[in-house]
Amino acid sequence: MPDMESTGKNRSIPEVVKSQEVFFRAGGTRLIEFRKTALRRLEESIQKNTDEFLSVLSQDLGKPEVEAYLAEIYFVLSEIRFTIKNLNRWAKARRVGNPFYFLPARSEVRQEPLGPSLVIAPWNYPIQLSLSPLIAAVAAGNCVVLKPSEMAGASADLLAKIIRGAFDPAHVTVVQGGKEVVEELLTQPFKFIFYTGSGKVGKIIAKAAAEKLIPVVLELGGKCPCIVGKDIDLVEAAERIIGGKFFNAGQTCMAPDFVLIPNEIRAAFVEKAEALLEEWYGKSGQENLARIINANHFERIRNLVSGEVVEIGEDVPDKDWMAPRILPEADWDDPVMQEEIFGPVLPVIAYDDLDELLERFTGKASPLALYLFSRDEKFQEKVIAAIPSGSVGINDTMKQATNLKLPFGGVGNSGMGRYRGEAGFEAFSYARSITKRYLIKDVFAARPPYDGLLEKMRKILK
Ligand code: NAD
Repeated sequence: MPDMESTGKNRSIPEVVKSQEVFFRAGGTRLIEFRKTALRRLEESIQKNTDEFLSVLSQDLGKPEVEAYLAEIYFVLSEIRFTIKNLNRWAKARRVGNPFYFLPARSEVRQEPLGPSLVIAPWNYPIQLSLSPLIAAVAAGNCVVLKPSEMAGASADLLAKIIRGAFDPAHVTVVQGGKEVVEELLTQPFKFIFYTGSGKVGKIIAKAAAEKLIPVVLELGGKCPCIVGKDIDLVEAAERIIGGKFFNAGQTCMAPDFVLIPNEIRAAFVEKAEALLEEWYGKSGQENLARIINANHFERIRNLVSGEVVEIGEDVPDKDWMAPRILPEADWDDPVMQEEIFGPVLPVIAYDDLDELLERFTGKASPLALYLFSRDEKFQEKVIAAIPSGSVGINDTMKQATNLKLPFGGVGNSGMGRYRGEAGFEAFSYARSITKRYLIKDVFAARPPYDGLLEKMRKILK
């Protein structure tokens, strides 16, 4: 049963959606000032409850406070501010020209809200990945039902409380629960569905949406490769790769999943990476590294580990805390290379020839992010051309996804559609073309009888 307490009153899902339809039709969300005021209330509420956010993220994922603050709280606050600052410009109708036979006329493109929207979020960044689409939805003038992940329960409870305080439930509501609740939500007449999570569930969402011709954005995952060239600064590259990989204990959709490195520098890279892990997590690992979301995932990740392993510290299974690991001699056929790892395990695979390496990616699933480390622009462009991906990080990991001026999303298996900043506003809007003419004599109209008209037209319209 969904947690109806979080919907504001004890109302069923169809009642919640109905109330949002009525609210949307009343037209208040069309006003830019209304949207900004709602976002400001959300901003205030997040600021007031920052300590509570840190606390639930620690309960759900043992997130180090610095990581929680940066990636969940500060990220969301900065997206709200960025959105409020730019909203007038994004929402402004865009005048376009007209063909001569319209004249006199005025044509424009307006960004219109799609209507009551459903946002389904995952557990790994339970606050950011719930609120970032929600900000875009509200900015675009929609009503929203947010379904956070039941696997990060403390975060979901806090989200429900915050949203209840900041929004009219007929405007924005949190509905809690798992698979059954999603199934019921998918029977509702939403005008848009924004889903973040695994590809397996993404297909279920897309099928249900297709039945009702509801447009969807799917933000999915996959294995993000990190390809290293010979000409790098090993120290700096290792810091950036290890930093991205082990943030949130590797439970990040666009974390580098595995490293591909020239044979001759593999040992030096592994040595450097090991020293970093020792320095960062060796002494007080449990304070600086998030834990795994639950025992199932803990077991799943441990079962992926095989062959030679460099392990820093020891697992604490009863706390789902997994010691960081490097697999320095990994191979393409290893279990760890058969699925997205989503944990603190970094396989390192050596290569000799870049062309042969890139050949391996032909016809393979397109990753959400592609990372490459090299000073050589030819190398960079060759890799970019060979492997399609949602985004590319050159000489760093994850940064590209924190720039609100860059759209975020996948391609092929890693998803469809874009959001963040203006791209998010556009995802939750549709471009409506409007042509306004004036009721004066239509000089260029082609009206019957057509006698002789074709000859005249062929002289003018050629
Ligand atoms: P998930 O698919 O298990 O869950 C996501 C949401 O779907 C949850 O709200 C959950 O309640 C719901 N759900 C789960 N099973 C369902 C079912 N059978 N029917 C209907 N709804 C169901 O995903 P997850 O495990 O929470 O997230 C991990 C995956 O998400 C990884 O693959 C990761 O790469 C991907 N991810 C992608 C992004 C991105 O922005 N592209 C961000 C985070 C995570």
